[in-house]
Amino acid sequence: MSISSLPVATLGTPRIGPRRELKLALESFWSGKSSERALRETAVGLRAANWARQKSLGVSVIPSNDFSFYDQVLDTSVMVGAIPEVYGWKGGDVSLATYFAMARGAQGSEHDESCGHAHHAHGSSHGVPAQEMTKWFDTNYHYMVPEFSAGQIFKLSSSKAVDEYREAKALGYKTRPVLLGPVTFLRLGKSKDAALNPLSLLPVLLPVYVKVLQQLVAEGCEWVQIDEPCLVLDADRETQGALQMTYALLAEMVPGLKIMLASYFGSLGDNADTALSLPVAGLHIDLVRAPEQLDKIVSAAPKGMTLSLGAIDGRNIWRSNLSALLKRLEPAVAKLGLDRVQIAPSCSLLHVPIDLEQETSLDPDVKSWLAFSVQKIAELATLGTALAGGRDKVADALAASDAAARSRETSPKIHNADVAKRMMAIDDAMRRRQNVFTKRSGLQRARFGLPAFPTTTIGSFPQTTEVRNARAAHGKGAMSDAQYEQFLKEETARAVRWQEEIGLDVLVHGEFERNDMVQYFGEQLSGFTFTKHGWVQSYGSRYVRPPILFGDVSRPKPMTVEWWRYAQSLTQKPMKAMLTGPVTILNWSFVRDDIPRSEACRQIALAIRDEVTDLEKAGAKMIQIDEAALREGLPLRKSEWKTYLDWAVESFRICSTGVTDETQIHTHMCYSEFNDIIDAIGAMDADVISIETSRSKMELLDAFKTYKYPNEIGPGVYDIHSPRVPEVSEMAELLSLARKRLTDSQLWINPDCGLKTRKWEEVRPALVNMVAAAREMRHAS
Ligand code: GLN
Ligand code: ZN
Repeated sequence: MSISSLPVATLGTPRIGPRRELKLALESFWSGKSSERALRETAVGLRAANWARQKSLGVSVIPSNDFSFYDQVLDTSVMVGAIPEVYGWKGGDVSLATYFAMARGAQGSEHDESCGHAHHAHGSSHGVPAQEMTKWFDTNYHYMVPEFSAGQIFKLSSSKAVDEYREAKALGYKTRPVLLGPVTFLRLGKSKDAALNPLSLLPVLLPVYVKVLQQLVAEGCEWVQIDEPCLVLDADRETQGALQMTYALLAEMVPGLKIMLASYFGSLGDNADTALSLPVAGLHIDLVRAPEQLDKIVSAAPKGMTLSLGAIDGRNIWRSNLSALLKRLEPAVAKLGLDRVQIAPSCSLLHVPIDLEQETSLDPDVKSWLAFSVQKIAELATLGTALAGGRDKVADALAASDAAARSRETSPKIHNADVAKRMMAIDDAMRRRQNVFTKRSGLQRARFGLPAFPTTTIGSFPQTTEVRNARAAHGKGAMSDAQYEQFLKEETARAVRWQEEIGLDVLVHGEFERNDMVQYFGEQLSGFTFTKHGWVQSYGSRYVRPPILFGDVSRPKPMTVEWWRYAQSLTQKPMKAMLTGPVTILNWSFVRDDIPRSEACRQIALAIRDEVTDLEKAGAKMIQIDEAALREGLPLRKSEWKTYLDWAVESFRICSTGVTDETQIHTHMCYSEFNDIIDAIGAMDADVISIETSRSKMELLDAFKTYKYPNEIGPGVYDIHSPRVPEVSEMAELLSLARKRLTDSQLWINPDCGLKTRKWEEVRPALVNMVAAAREMRHAS
């Protein structure tokens, strides 16, 4: 048999539009400036353009229903009618108003993003709350958590999948619709009733899926893609049983339909046998995260099963080394036969920016090493042709790929001998403080003479419209460097004065000069670059442009010292210096794939260590190193946690231990699940850690209590995700709960996180109350 290319699939593409068209349309609709019809027209245009782009680039297995106004998990909740009562849905097709109420809350108050990154579920302060939101596996994409309750029924409530299939068909595309699989959908959901196990709802859920699939078949659909990324999580019998039940039923009820069952974000591992035993026509495997599974799956796949080889990285922005890939894939294709293989990215291209060609100011070498979704699709097409025996037809593309790979391997822009030398020189002394905490704490107490229950904040103060406008004006050149600096100094001075006035014990400068806690550092470190249009969806209409870590990291010059020095010059009280930690910088960036992540992290740690040392030299006595993203970097499989935590902790220690015992190292983590990482937190050995606790009634401190955590802790007493100003008594109550779990001498008093998303009108009374609560405690004890 001779064909010109293997089938090429994308599994899904970014829906936001090359110029963020979807965001603009959504926000205009939400603010009442444009109609539902206009929004829908924009969506139709984006889908048509997406299909056309894929077709012209050589994709033969074009997806539909990968579009979403907000989130594909929310789309699934709506499809099956899992609409909590509060949204007042009366049955029938779910309206756009209900859909957006679930996404954003009914009075339109947006999800809060206090940390610049949305790891917090948050509803509107009045009206109907939004659904909870959380991270999609180990990506920085956030989905709306499905919610189930006792007596849950499901009912087909949206025709989106069928509509989009038809829409594509009318344009001449025969698509493979994408659905989130029922088992993963249930596993991602939460039940309001503790007694209800979401997976137990499977028998009542499946008839809805059957209906959707039958409707698709009636429209002429031959293949669907059903995503079950739960296949890469640690296996459990219940999930495996649920998968068996699901796919047996679908095979029986929709016999004419071919299912491409998609696993991604890791290895099938102990789920491989289950996946291979399911009665599906095809199985997609991730060969980027888990290249080692190729041989096993190829040998074990039943004769009738098509394999979709996820060969190109859907999670990162690097150009592939196509020759190397061909070498690995050719034997597999030979073994399976051309008619049993499809070629695909490791996962949907949702997680990468759209088109590299929009970047006109990147360094040309760096640019030549990158591939965004459009370039990745072209790579897939090249692979598809080469693997079908057409290497000569794509000789130019292969040669270009080889050249880029060679240049990346040797470029002095990436490889820095000094960094390599420093990496070699990391020794045990660089991984620990001079003395243990008990020794240090005595010295620090004597040095600072702080009152009991010292008060402080997490770092940032409100990023007001004026601050944002000034930054934008400066960026555009409308404000000179000197004017901008003067503006920032005034903001900082005002914030410092005010903190003194209200009687906080340890002050911060306010972070007015920072655009983002990662970008600010990335922009000053060698080895990072930034895009102009490299947006990826974080959630809903919120997109981020992650920094690109392409080379060895070093710090050409101090990054924060001058701002710290200025702020400290305004006060006698301790001014806490403020840095972002290496693990967080790493986890919120696109990271180079030519060295292990652990190594890239250590390089960043060395650069931050330099900054810490310089801050100390300049006179800083307290230095906070935020590790907001440490926990979210946990691998999907538990067996890999220890390795990750080991190097994450090591990196923190490298960056934080180059100081004397008297210098107090703070860290901050804004989340509230510590059980899994309490050992790691202990090993980080920061003198003081501030954490998020206000919404959990201090219960999470139990983890610290059980661990007998010896160092100091500031459990957040002020929920900064809400505009509400907490009363003195509420904060005092939280503190007394904290005192049940920790000793008084360990406790600090602070908000949950930085205050940059809040308004001054909210922050002022809240912090005044917080200081009052601290004073009350001091008097009472
Ligand atoms: N210092 C940062 C701030 O206050 C910390 C933010 C975070 O933890 N995400 O904004
Ligand atoms: Zn935080």
